[in-house]
Amino acid sequence: MSIENTTSNFIRNIVAEDLETGKHKEIITRFPPEPNGYLHVGHAKSIILNFGLADEFNGKTNLRFDDTNPVKEDTEYVQSIKEDVKWLGFDWDNLYFASDYFDEMYNRAILLIKKGKAYVCDLSAEQMKDYRGTLTAPGKESPHCQRSIEENLDLFERMKNGEFKDGEKVLRAKIDMTSANMNMRDPIIYRISHATHHNTGDKWCIYPMYDFAHPLEDAIEGITHSVCTLEFEAHRPLYDWFVKECEMTSVPRQIEFARLNMTNTVMSKRKLKLLVDEGIVDGWDDPRMPTIAGLRRRGYTPEAIRNFCREIGVAKGDSTVDSQMLDFFLREDLQPKTVLAMAVLKPLKLVITNYPEDQTEMVEVENNAKNEEAGTRLVPFSRELYIEQEDFMEEPIKKYFRLFPANEVRLKGAYFVKCTDVVKDEKGNVIEVHCTYDPETKSGSGFTGRKVKATIHWVDAQTATPAHFRLFEPLILDDAPENEGKHFLEQINPHSLEVLEGFIENVAFKDAKPLDKFQFVRNGFFTVDSKYTTSEKFVFNRIVSLKSSFKL
Ligand code: ATP
Ligand code: MG
Repeated sequence: MSIENTTSNFIRNIVAEDLETGKHKEIITRFPPEPNGYLHVGHAKSIILNFGLADEFNGKTNLRFDDTNPVKEDTEYVQSIKEDVKWLGFDWDNLYFASDYFDEMYNRAILLIKKGKAYVCDLSAEQMKDYRGTLTAPGKESPHCQRSIEENLDLFERMKNGEFKDGEKVLRAKIDMTSANMNMRDPIIYRISHATHHNTGDKWCIYPMYDFAHPLEDAIEGITHSVCTLEFEAHRPLYDWFVKECEMTSVPRQIEFARLNMTNTVMSKRKLKLLVDEGIVDGWDDPRMPTIAGLRRRGYTPEAIRNFCREIGVAKGDSTVDSQMLDFFLREDLQPKTVLAMAVLKPLKLVITNYPEDQTEMVEVENNAKNEEAGTRLVPFSRELYIEQEDFMEEPIKKYFRLFPANEVRLKGAYFVKCTDVVKDEKGNVIEVHCTYDPETKSGSGFTGRKVKATIHWVDAQTATPAHFRLFEPLILDDAPENEGKHFLEQINPHSLEVLEGFIENVAFKDAKPLDKFQFVRNGFFTVDSKYTTSEKFVFNRIVSLKSSFKL
């Protein structure tokens, strides 16, 4: 049984019960992003939850853009969000925009005014804050809350017609200024904003507030279970109030769950946008970003992200997940899928002085160490090779078994080589290692004469292709970047990106395309970068290293 079918969550239980008792014949969920940035892995949790519920219970899921704030929204974000949802493996039953419902929302606001449940208020933002009271002190009524229905209707229409400036007036719900729940203290329903909307252009200069718009959107679409994050729990009475007082025929149920937080990252479009705008990353899809676009470019797979989200489950309490847990699912997904290829990230020239100068032979290496069915391939081998700098030490430390003067190691898939001497530059750095090889020791020949303690990887210098390797560390230093009043921009890791220039073998990578994934022997999983790779130069992103101490 897959993880998907065994992880239970409380929302799933509610849905199952509602279907069993006949409260609903079919469930409809929605994923309602605001198109004000790119989606991040927190959104993936919400997507997987909403689409997953509909999949499991034969329901439907709408993708709805909650576009009620024209100043921050853009069609670029709409496009990226659609792409990311699809990439994660989901397809919506309907695509809607909250702005499609602006007429209906306006009419529902008029209904509230006519019922004496909404009024136009002239208080400034600051005055309104004063009147609102605090958690311990009740608020007091606005001097405008007794306006007549006629006056309110007239003023609201004039707000819509553009007769007032931004901030001059708002429409508020008339509920209870003394409510213990601050959200119920006459919240704003409509504000004036003379801004061009990405969908409706200049048709409107008043826009509905989230707390008013969201329940109406859900009700209009017949959403049965409206899943949102915990911070909206205290908004639920208001959600229910608007559905009831606006006389919506369909009554959605809001259910809150804990948002996903992860170590060493920030999870908010607003903050991620700051990283882009400040030039700290090379775009929303920078491989260090927790955005879906960033994870994709980094080489993460939808399968790994889905398995991760299912494993962390859905809970009622906030917690922070170790980002290494996502890496665990990544390795698990990548291991069987990728070809084990040879690449040298920090090259050091190795010359086999007794190997014929004009000879190249093909040696056989496995395509996947854990899967024999993946077969083998032949890679060229000749007198000059590159090995990793760290696989040679002129003066070996204790327990160092790789190459050092007079020591012998195996070159993976090929021969034993023994270091005879080195060439140094004027600064004394070793720039070339000289070895001799023993033709008797070829891999697969059954040689049992003597043993070596290490096998190192290599690429053939003559045929190797130069490549850049981008290695990543967390972008944010602190585990909880928001803590102790520190701004997350003060916590940026200055070493989050390291670019190495090395070589790849020319066989496994022959037809490699952007986003193709490989396992580099001993160096981890890598993907071909989609932004910097050109026909002349391969650029690889390290997806994740091979090992971790993390245990599930
Ligand atoms: P952000 O602060 O990043 O903009 P948001 O909650 O304002 O996040 P929306 O575009 O409104 O972003 O979110 C769409 C849906 O995704 C909402 O239902 C929201 O609850 C959910 N969501 C957002 N962030 C997370 C998270 N970290 N974990 C789980 N769900 C999330
Ligand atoms: Mg938001």
